[in-house]
Amino acid sequence: MFDKIKSKFQGIIQRLSEREIKEYELNEILDEFMYSLIESDVSYDTANHIIEFIKRKLIGRSIPRFKANLKDIVKNVVKEVLLEILISGRCDDLYDTILSSAKKPYVIVFFGVNGVGKTTTIAKIAKYLMDKGLKVVLACSDTFRAAAIEQLKYHADKLGIRMISHQYGADPAAVAYDAIEHAKSKGIDVVLIDTAGRQHSNVNLMEELRKIVRVVQPDLKILVLDALTGNDAVTQARYFNDNVGVDALIFTKVDADIKGGAIISVLYELKKPVFFLGVGQRYSDLIRYNAQEILDMIINK
Ligand code: GDP
Repeated sequence: MFDKIKSKFQGIIQRLSEREIKEYELNEILDEFMYSLIESDVSYDTANHIIEFIKRKLIGRSIPRFKANLKDIVKNVVKEVLLEILISGRCDDLYDTILSSAKKPYVIVFFGVNGVGKTTTIAKIAKYLMDKGLKVVLACSDTFRAAAIEQLKYHADKLGIRMISHQYGADPAAVAYDAIEHAKSKGIDVVLIDTAGRQHSNVNLMEELRKIVRVVQPDLKILVLDALTGNDAVTQARYFNDNVGVDALIFTKVDADIKGGAIISVLYELKKPVFFLGVGQRYSDLIRYNAQEILDMIINK
């Protein structure tokens, strides 16, 4: 009897001290957040989905009737939602992934459009794995672009490892196949395959990539994206994933003044692991992906 009165009394107090959030009071604040997401290079579609999701999460939520700062409440929910998207990129270290697989050689194919930093990233990864004691060979399956072979050879020489190549115009799948055969015969642990980076919408390129994948059956297909390209990174990610399938991502040029939106949009769309971030032009400028650091980058802009 006494408990019943007590809980009724608590209910009245709660009704007096709390109220529910209404849609009309959120609109202006959420418009502001939508604008700042787009300013941070988040694609329009992604920003729109995020804002709608946040709206649904907040309408009807109880908040203190007095002293509640709605903007702060919204800001915290925005952070939670962004972090949730970014966390979908978390994954094991690449070295651990290779070790825990029984495959030898472990074969990784790299995709990406021209200029994103694919070749530099392959060299950085080769160095990273070599420093941990693995034997690596490079395959130049870009038989299309002038200077592609010389560029990869330059890195192979600097790192003191072999690069397998054929002449320009040769079949890229055959180069990759040869590199794997070489690795098998020499007891090499990892084969890193560089591919041609023409425009992602190039039909021949996609056919060529599909053939490489069919022939070598790689253990990992990594898409390299330039974090500075904003919306275009989403288009590239969608296109490569639909056409050849993407297992994991690497974002480059994160050392430049990026706003982080490309990472949010691509992860929102693809939800794939991010093995590394490129943070400069030296071999050591490769860091593990950290969701909280990217969130801070976006929020503090
Ligand atoms: P690819 O055409 O995709 O193979 O690109 P490259 O590897 O040739 O790189 C294109 C340019 O981007 C080069 O000048 C690289 O030094 C530069 N680059 C690659 N990764 C990074 C990075 O993480 N940060 C910065 N600042 N530059 C990078």
